[in-house]
Amino acid sequence: MSASPRQPKFTELDHVPDGLLECEATALYQHLPGPTLIHLRGRIERPLLVSVLQHGNETTGWEAIRRLLKSHYQHDALPRSLLIFIGNTRAAKQRLRRLDYQPDFNRCWPGGNETDRAYTSVFRRIHDRFLEHRPLACIDIHNNTGLNPHYAAVNRIRSDYLRLASMFASKVAYFTIPMGTLSHSMSEFCPSLTLECGQAGETHGTDHSMAYLESCLHLEEISLQPVDADAVHLFHMVATVTVNEDLLFGFGNVPTEVAFREGLDLYNFKELPEGTPWGTINKQDMAPLIATDTDGRNVTDTYFDFSEGRVRNRREVMPSMLTLDRRVIQQDCLCYLMERIHFEDNEEVTTVNPLPEAIPRSDSPG
Ligand SMILES: [Zn+2]
Repeated sequence: MSASPRQPKFTELDHVPDGLLECEATALYQHLPGPTLIHLRGRIERPLLVSVLQHGNETTGWEAIRRLLKSHYQHDALPRSLLIFIGNTRAAKQRLRRLDYQPDFNRCWPGGNETDRAYTSVFRRIHDRFLEHRPLACIDIHNNTGLNPHYAAVNRIRSDYLRLASMFASKVAYFTIPMGTLSHSMSEFCPSLTLECGQAGETHGTDHSMAYLESCLHLEEISLQPVDADAVHLFHMVATVTVNEDLLFGFGNVPTEVAFREGLDLYNFKELPEGTPWGTINKQDMAPLIATDTDGRNVTDTYFDFSEGRVRNRREVMPSMLTLDRRVIQQDCLCYLMERIHFEDNEEVTTVNPLPEAIPRSDSPG
């Protein structure tokens, strides 16, 4: 049976194709028609897995990788092998998170709810390939559209995971939804992070992530010694907030059914006291926001108050990923709600699942 035309084409390479490092994200599709895994051998066999462009308009990861490789690793041996996963080159061509006919790549990994089998079967195969390489850690690089500080997100609370995260930023988010993310699926097996590197195109985001990858390549191991409580400020995602799709919304002084504050994204990573105003409601008969907890329950009433024509939070929360980008809001969400947690009391004592034994290679190392 031939592959469906909708099936993404997965490519594996053991080298960087000529000219690839000269390509901006928008041009990668000319070399890489679909999701691609590039395995570069380094002095230490066990690789660092780095994922970029799962969202086609989030270009910082690719910029960091290509600058890293061009800086000196075109000539010098990598200190450790590197597995580079390049995600959605077709959406990158259009400078979009994803194309309309595509699912969100970062919801298609094992453990997710995505129903498009053409994608989930390919992503399961790619995931199996990752595991066969027994990565030391998995780092998935993203951007966001609002004003957010750089931060790392983990899906398990363990010293080694928090240590790796704290090397990037002291603010660390812990989340268990959405399901089907790369970081979540890999975190069963190895320290696994999602890096949020601010907005795409910012030089300091590329600088920061490139320096971080360089540090990670030089790690010999990731210690399980407890992390200092001052080194990590850990926040737990408690709900996802979407805008009621039956309502017209806008930002600032606009005649829409819900008008959110201009500069709402200034609330990102601020601990907002109860009663902080988010916007005004001009159509009273339905809730403008829907908050859903990590078990999928509607918890809107726990977090929001819509009385007196205003949107306010009912208890102290810290939003993250608040965006003013309508397309992101409609395709994904308005924001996540976070609450501070004390990881000293929450650290997992479970072990991670063993990775498969290394697959013997037919070619000689070198
Ligand atoms: Zn992303």
